[in-house]
Amino acid sequence: MGDQRVIIRMQQNSSTNDLAKLFHTLEKKGFMARYVPYRDDCFVMVEGRVDRDLALQGIPGVEEVISTSNPFPLASLELTNGKHSTVEILPGLNIGGGHKLVMAGPCAVESRDQILECARSVKKAGASILRGGAFKPRTNPYSFQGLGSEGIALLAEARKITGLPVISEVMSMETIEWMMPHVDILQVGARNMQNFPLLKALGKVDKPVMLKRGPMATVDEWLQAAEYILLGGNRRVILCERGIRGVETRTRNTLDLNIVPLVKSLSHLPVVVDPSHGTGIRELVAPMSLAALAAGADGLIVEVHPKPEEALSDGMQSLTTLQFSALMKSIAKLMPALEVFREGEEPCHSVTVM
Ligand code: PEP
Ligand code: MN
Repeated sequence: MGDQRVIIRMQQNSSTNDLAKLFHTLEKKGFMARYVPYRDDCFVMVEGRVDRDLALQGIPGVEEVISTSNPFPLASLELTNGKHSTVEILPGLNIGGGHKLVMAGPCAVESRDQILECARSVKKAGASILRGGAFKPRTNPYSFQGLGSEGIALLAEARKITGLPVISEVMSMETIEWMMPHVDILQVGARNMQNFPLLKALGKVDKPVMLKRGPMATVDEWLQAAEYILLGGNRRVILCERGIRGVETRTRNTLDLNIVPLVKSLSHLPVVVDPSHGTGIRELVAPMSLAALAAGADGLIVEVHPKPEEALSDGMQSLTTLQFSALMKSIAKLMPALEVFREGEEPCHSVTVM
């Protein structure tokens, strides 16, 4: 646990005048503060350590004064009084708080034919979001680096033709602005989990962000990385477990499913699992997808390729379109059983696919 901090929840109807007065009061007490306006909730974060009562109760516009030593207060489950958040991707398409969905598509956009074929088949199988990387963070500089802006244009075309919303990785701050109109979720790759300037920039965008867990990151580091985005004013953060580096060399990574229920006990943010990068092995993807949902994941992101043996990246862990369709059928069978299992927990408001 970190330093003692103070967060002020503002009333829904608080005015700019109330805010100005609050900032003035804080200033007089020697504190700087930061305003975090979300669509449906506004907070004032008092900067620095606060180990005394600031006596802010009763000031106009102030709803609640929260004193906490949690290092990720905005990501914490305390903030929402134990309620898991629903993140709206598009009107009518949600994740978290009982809404579950599957994202699927190739590791990388490779050609028009490839992305269109893949988009059509994952849609038919029941995926709600198309994935596809245009900027690829490859370990080796000689490996395929993605089609860049051309890849984003192809994704935009696939989105237009199929109607599937799109998720794609943003690797640098400079590309955020022109990616914005073409993608529905911005993905932060595992290697960029602690790219703080990028996270700060994503805090300013009006678009959901899926933050992958770094291969060497602890849950606390990951949630503090999410806090950077939340603190910027973007509340639409989705977490994604994609495996960590462990002792096992037969799998690409160790998919850490422990963290699904763990993070759900610590944070209100939705958690997606990526069994493709988490295992690196096609045959393990379906069983780990089912395991992730059984553990309570709010969604999956799965790599699918029409011809995995010809894929320019991650072919070994990509499902064929046929395998993906079989997986979606297994998921559909599993979900009703899980609802029985979860009875008494959070109600399942709607299930997009499963
Ligand atoms: C990806 O999703 O293709 C990817 C590169 O994932 P990660 O950042 O988890 O390695
Ligand atoms: Mn990949």
